[in-house]
Amino acid sequence: MESNGILRKMRTELGNPISYRLSLNEDIDLNELIGKKVTFGWTGIIICSGCNKTIKKSFGDGFCFNCFSTGAESSPCIIRPELCRAHLGEGRDVEWELLHHNVEHVVYLAATDAIKVGVTRSTQVPTRWIDQGAAKAIVFARTPNRYEAGRLEVALKSMYTDKTNWQKMLKNEIDADIDLVEEKWNLYDTLPDDLLTYFCDDDDHMELYFPVSHYPKVIKSTSLDKSANFSGELVGVKGQYLIFNDGTVFNIRRHTGYEVSFSWS
Ligand SMILES: [Zn+2]
Ligand SMILES: [Zn+2]
Repeated sequence: MESNGILRKMRTELGNPISYRLSLNEDIDLNELIGKKVTFGWTGIIICSGCNKTIKKSFGDGFCFNCFSTGAESSPCIIRPELCRAHLGEGRDVEWELLHHNVEHVVYLAATDAIKVGVTRSTQVPTRWIDQGAAKAIVFARTPNRYEAGRLEVALKSMYTDKTNWQKMLKNEIDADIDLVEEKWNLYDTLPDDLLTYFCDDDDHMELYFPVSHYPKVIKSTSLDKSANFSGELVGVKGQYLIFNDGTVFNIRRHTGYEVSFSWS
């Protein structure tokens, strides 16, 4: 069986396990392909996610250099929410900012390998947690906009990482002692007064189950730039990565906009 199209972030649905779909010209259920051999082939073409121009090299998640340098979706406040100016009615694309960043955000704690702090729009929960490959996560605070969430994240960053160690995440090396509810309440005492108002006292947390038949002990990442064609037996999907039998991992999101053929047997 074969399908062609432009790679985009896999779509996910919460469940036990989480279900993953790859949308090319047709919608492919990846959970059903675990244990099967799959093959990717890249045509050498990338389509910019911003302006649809054909490019040879992408920046960020699938942008041409111009869209990457000037587009709303690669603004500095994406990576550093504390720089967001949407609440002031400012930004690269004011309308986009008002719609996406001047809305309720959450600051969360997630266990990927260690505890990580992150910021996302409320409507992106739990999608964002799935995309990061978090084993469990909890909402720490709710803020009226991205900027305030960023201020909170900065206050917490000194105690936690804001980076995911993706190798450990893909090997499923998680500190078993992590108790997010306890961590959350410990942090409560450290918050400056002006940020306390956003604290969310709800202890509900989420555990996430990824469709992985076995985790590799050694990871090596591949990309279509390194090898335009590759095959392997799929053993699982976690975060936005496909995991293969020999420990090869493939980051789908990093290949946003790549025109590919995808086949399975
Ligand atoms: Zn572009
Ligand atoms: Zn912003």
